[in-house]
Amino acid sequence: MELKRDGLNRYRLPRHGKMRVDAVVYVNEHLLPYLREDKSLEQLMHAACLPGVVEPVIGMPDIHEGFGLPIGGVMAVAPDGVISCGAVGMDINCGVRLIRSDLLARDFDKPLLRRLMERIEDYVPTGVGKKGKHKGLTAHIFEDVAHRGVQAVIEAGFGAPGHLEYIEEEGCLPGADIAAVSREACARGSVQLGTLGGGNHFIEIQEVTDVYDPELAARFGLFRGQLTVMIHTGSRGFGHQICTDYTKRLAAVAPKYGIELPSKGLAAAPIDSREGQDYYKAMACAVNFAFANRQIIMTDVVRAFGDVLGFSAEAIGMRPVYDVAHNIAKWEKHYGRRLLVHRKGATRALCAGHPANPPVYRDTGHPAVVPGSMGTASYVLVGTEKAAETFFSVNHGAGRLLSRTAAEKKITREEFERAMGEVLYNTRNYREVVDEAPLAYKDIEQVVETLVAVGITKKVVRMRPLAVIKG
Ligand code: 5GP
Ligand code: MN
Ligand code: MN
Repeated sequence: MELKRDGLNRYRLPRHGKMRVDAVVYVNEHLLPYLREDKSLEQLMHAACLPGVVEPVIGMPDIHEGFGLPIGGVMAVAPDGVISCGAVGMDINCGVRLIRSDLLARDFDKPLLRRLMERIEDYVPTGVGKKGKHKGLTAHIFEDVAHRGVQAVIEAGFGAPGHLEYIEEEGCLPGADIAAVSREACARGSVQLGTLGGGNHFIEIQEVTDVYDPELAARFGLFRGQLTVMIHTGSRGFGHQICTDYTKRLAAVAPKYGIELPSKGLAAAPIDSREGQDYYKAMACAVNFAFANRQIIMTDVVRAFGDVLGFSAEAIGMRPVYDVAHNIAKWEKHYGRRLLVHRKGATRALCAGHPANPPVYRDTGHPAVVPGSMGTASYVLVGTEKAAETFFSVNHGAGRLLSRTAAEKKITREEFERAMGEVLYNTRNYREVVDEAPLAYKDIEQVVETLVAVGITKKVVRMRPLAVIKG
């Protein structure tokens, strides 16, 4: 596999074999060696073989091996090309919501943070397969949520209409149709709204420690010393089941359309085929579910703050800064063409002035929310005009360095505790979360600096974790 240097922190895999287009990966010299350690480059090459794919298929600096497209992958497809569930991912619309407040982190000592964590956990179920606490209500509006997203849960009492402008797509991807979703997916989804899920998902209380661009930070409602909350979760069993169902279905029909699938994980069908359209309709349901899920969780988090501090949510200024997906396929305009952009473990980052920004962020560019790990920093970034070359995308995190099993084997208790430092976490036994240790992830500073150096993104603020609730 020949990787050619193609400018600062940019490497190109020229088209060869069955590849239809080149692949481009963004890494600096620190991250470059990781590309040899897993199959992520091979997976990018596979994506480059799919019909209709637009030059280039992109790997972000947090790239690592996934099922189908690597995590940290961006694949844009022309309207006569294919849609692929393996290029969206299992957790459809897994994403991150950052919540601001008027609170100062220095006013929160450990006992107070513990009380907040406990109260949040009273309201938000964590762990795999958990059912939501609002399920009596949410099961009732489930279909409405799948079709209308956040608007449906706001009408049911979760948050305020003003929140919509702080969510990608205003919390609703058009084109959703529950008729394209299996009974099994609906059964799993209807009881899981308002749940965090397991493993990598989290609710984190943070402090803004660095402000790089004071003007932009102010426009985003952020300031140094501020307390923020970050929520990372997705569409739970609902999206997972949809991905499973359609991986089977699209793989089965691909030959009928003359598509040679480059790998099992990249199940795909023509965008305009019956099966391709059904996947889009089902995926949009899961996208809407996930935006609504984060909306409900935010409402519960704000309620917990209100309980513990004795203030109303309005009085403490808590509202979303932004909510962005990092596993999604969406129609967007690039280079004057309408393209279906698949982002898997990648975050949209539109530049200032881009017409697809929400009105509140039209002249700044919307915030791109990028978590690091539970023991290191997280960032708010913004895309630049140069981000056009990545279809206005940036990394979605630091990216995994060690697999779960490798992390469990390699990381000792001492290493884990040293990496966590003063950060509070919600489990007594470190073994339960060692696979999520900061050491299991790449260095977020290297990952962010890679794209900053190329000029694709700018740093706005940096946060450090104070307390984390892991799924
Ligand atoms: P993914 O969606 O691929 O599972 O994870 C997104 C990113 O979140 C990871 O690449 C990692 O950098 C980051 N991350 C994982 N766990 C935590 C956490 O507990 N806190 C923060 N701030 N970031 C995390
Ligand atoms: Mn997820
Ligand atoms: Mn995620």
